Amino acid sequence: MLKPGREKSLLRRHPWLFEGAIARVMGNSQIGDTVQVLTAAQQPMGWGSISPRSQIRVRMWSFDPETVVDEAWLATQLRRAIARRQVLLSDPNHTACRLVAAESDGLPGIIVDRYDRVLVCQLLTAGANHWRDRLVETLVQVLPEFGLACDGLYERSDADVRAKEGLPVQVGLLHGVEPPELVEIQEGSVRFGVDVRTGHKTGFYLDQRDNRAIAQQVCTGQEVLNCFSYTGGFSVAALAGGAAAVVNVDSSTAALTLSEANHQQNGFEGDRAQHRQGDVFQVLRQFRDEARQFDTIILDPPKFVDSQASLQRAARGYKDINRLACLLLRPGGTLFTFSCSGLMPADLFQKIVADAALDARRETQLVQRLGQSVDHPTLLSFPEGFYLKGLRCRVD
Ligand code: SAH
Repeated sequence: MLKPGREKSLLRRHPWLFEGAIARVMGNSQIGDTVQVLTAAQQPMGWGSISPRSQIRVRMWSFDPETVVDEAWLATQLRRAIARRQVLLSDPNHTACRLVAAESDGLPGIIVDRYDRVLVCQLLTAGANHWRDRLVETLVQVLPEFGLACDGLYERSDADVRAKEGLPVQVGLLHGVEPPELVEIQEGSVRFGVDVRTGHKTGFYLDQRDNRAIAQQVCTGQEVLNCFSYTGGFSVAALAGGAAAVVNVDSSTAALTLSEANHQQNGFEGDRAQHRQGDVFQVLRQFRDEARQFDTIILDPPKFVDSQASLQRAARGYKDINRLACLLLRPGGTLFTFSCSGLMPADLFQKIVADAALDARRETQLVQRLGQSVDHPTLLSFPEGFYLKGLRCRVD
């Protein structure tokens, strides 16, 4: 039952109920159970999952008190989510996409990604965890309706956020056969190997697909520096678009090894594709000292902000790499700069980049605002779902 007046966010269909909004929990619900939410005046507001350890105490499954939150409901939610991706799914040149994007698809905490014939799920919350077995059964039943084959469904519930819910790490096969060491996917005109067992997130940064396609269009003939390159996504795209050469920088040897394989697989070998293991903050300084120059620089760092307290420090980090990148760009060069931190507001990020350009004494235009790919939509009632912000800038 809610405290008086605390149903406001639910009326706006925001799916999170914080601890402080709740007057009391009636009955003896267990972690992850589906509970009915009542206003202080006992009016039913819908159904959500309870997470006793998390500050986000309840995540809503439905805002309709009449909904029966059962297997049939789950199947309906999954069908809706998959149907929303129909255009992407029916494109034979794209064999990987996010099928279920958690809150944004009305399924808080549940992520399902498709890598060709292998599916990978991530259950981030107590409520999501609660559905594990039924999610597997329901997915297996629903996928064929969309012409999607599933050789195996692999679980990657190893994200840090699970600890806040009091959930252990859970990784392994849930259905079908073990995935191959690398799952091959097609993304437009290029192919990537994805390590669904140990790769970041569920194996690949699907959220950057649309931005990689932009890089592919605009890097023709250019010298590109791809910072935080992971398995080479932006680099392979740029080379496919006719980039003259790309230098990839990442701190992870495993990521760089797979990146090299991805370049080879697409026929980009030798000097056109260089790989360098190192800390981007240091490598950028070294390049500055060597007066190296590039036509396009991509900055796609990991999440720098994990709490409000780390925002200041993160801001300094973003400013530092963006300032250095501006210094390394030839006049008229392009900066693709991203922040995947949900806690970094888009306007603040833009200000940080503006300050960085100012410090570098480079006149800089914002050419295009970028965001996450179309299969990572944002519910307007849940703006937190928009986490990946990017700016394409011209640096004169
Ligand atoms: N752009 C990539 C995804 C980048 S993910 C794509 O489209 O696929 C962020 C990457 O930054 C990871 O591969 C991680 O290994 C790397 N990384 C994190 N901190 C780093 C640092 N200080 N220097 C270099 N690489 C770093």
